[in-house]
Amino acid sequence: MRFVDIIEKKARGEVLSKAEIERTVNGFVAGEIPDYQMSAMLMAIRMSGMTAEETSDLTLAMMESGDMADLSDLPGVKLDKHSTGGVGDTTTLVVAPLVAACGGTIAKMSGRGLGHAGGTVDKLASIPGVNTEQSPEHFKEIVRKNGVAVIGQSGNFAPADKKIYALRDVTATVESIPLIASSIMSKKLASGTDAIVLDVKAGHGAFMKNVEDATTLAEYMVQIGKNLGRKVCAVITDMNRPLGNAIGNALEVREAIEVLSGKIGAGDPLYEVCMLLGEKLLLFGGLAKDEKQARKKLEEAIKNRTGLEKLKNMIHMLGGEDDYISLERIDELCNARRVFDLQAEEDGVVASLNAYDISLATVLLGAGRAQKEDEIDPAVGLVMKVRCGDAVKKGDPLCTLYVNDEKNLKEAVDMIRASIHIADSAEAEYPLIYGVVE
Ligand code: URA
Ligand code: CA
Repeated sequence: MRFVDIIEKKARGEVLSKAEIERTVNGFVAGEIPDYQMSAMLMAIRMSGMTAEETSDLTLAMMESGDMADLSDLPGVKLDKHSTGGVGDTTTLVVAPLVAACGGTIAKMSGRGLGHAGGTVDKLASIPGVNTEQSPEHFKEIVRKNGVAVIGQSGNFAPADKKIYALRDVTATVESIPLIASSIMSKKLASGTDAIVLDVKAGHGAFMKNVEDATTLAEYMVQIGKNLGRKVCAVITDMNRPLGNAIGNALEVREAIEVLSGKIGAGDPLYEVCMLLGEKLLLFGGLAKDEKQARKKLEEAIKNRTGLEKLKNMIHMLGGEDDYISLERIDELCNARRVFDLQAEEDGVVASLNAYDISLATVLLGAGRAQKEDEIDPAVGLVMKVRCGDAVKKGDPLCTLYVNDEKNLKEAVDMIRASIHIADSAEAEYPLIYGVVE
């Protein structure tokens, strides 16, 4: 069969066989299928969709295009979490050490941030000395000694995804649930863990703008995991507003330390999502009999600071100055030249927050990358002082800005002001957690 006939088949809405999907991925990676044909195929997939089984076959072919991490010599169930990307989403730095403190094994490879959502690797890099590029051997040694290691993704994982994503980006084929699901899962599954808890964000600060699409994406990813023999579940959480209050790298590390130290607790959105993710991970790890017991263990690891200790040890083993991992010392890394409040210009209620634009404003200040090569300034960003539904009076602080380079300051401030919508009354509250897909 010519490749054009396989494109034709998908364009007509038919189901592709495993062999046809393998030919697509392998042929494209090998350079036998040219960009123009692959572009047509990707558009056919976007328009016609794929079944869960086709999507699993696609994921497997992409995963097998590169290296596979081997974690089989580590003890216990290897646990991992993945967020589809949110604003003020500092959950990894809280959940990973807490789960390790409860006896879990977390060997996590994490991405760098690009665009509006920050990456865990960038947050870790805000601590002096930390090296997130580690050999597989040292990575595993940290996990063995400390129960948890989070490092940058090295190695040649799912190179097919890299090549396909680059083409999707310029052919209007990013917005396809089977393509997004296979892209995320091929990389996750290649990193060798046994069980994955996915945090699929829904809202205007996220990839998936509404709950229906987020739920469909979650269902696809959970099914892929099951078809490929892993334990996977997904929680669907709100990203219409920032999750935590801090947006920026050292600022987010500080907020993680605040949760791990018990300074931020029950009822706080970041705390609650961390607890939910932690509960699911402990259940996957066989470390609790039900959600209630899992939560109790996680709370205990906050109270006795064993979670904080795990984070501190991990930073130490990554070569970092672990003295900063304390409420007393972390402020020294949030030492921007100018720190000042943005004040409300009128009385009213915070009706909505535009998480996406608030985050882009922090990128303008240097907290994230507009382009791959951009340097990140770890100290800059902002800390929200208000949440949706809060009443404010003229002159009240809305957020605290941390600024070094003032080049884009005016543009950033205008953007933040436009993102904090103050009105006579609050809009309907979004729930924080929309659902769980098991
Ligand atoms: N994140 C990914 O890794 N891939 C996609 O296609 C979309 C988001
Ligand atoms: Ca960030």
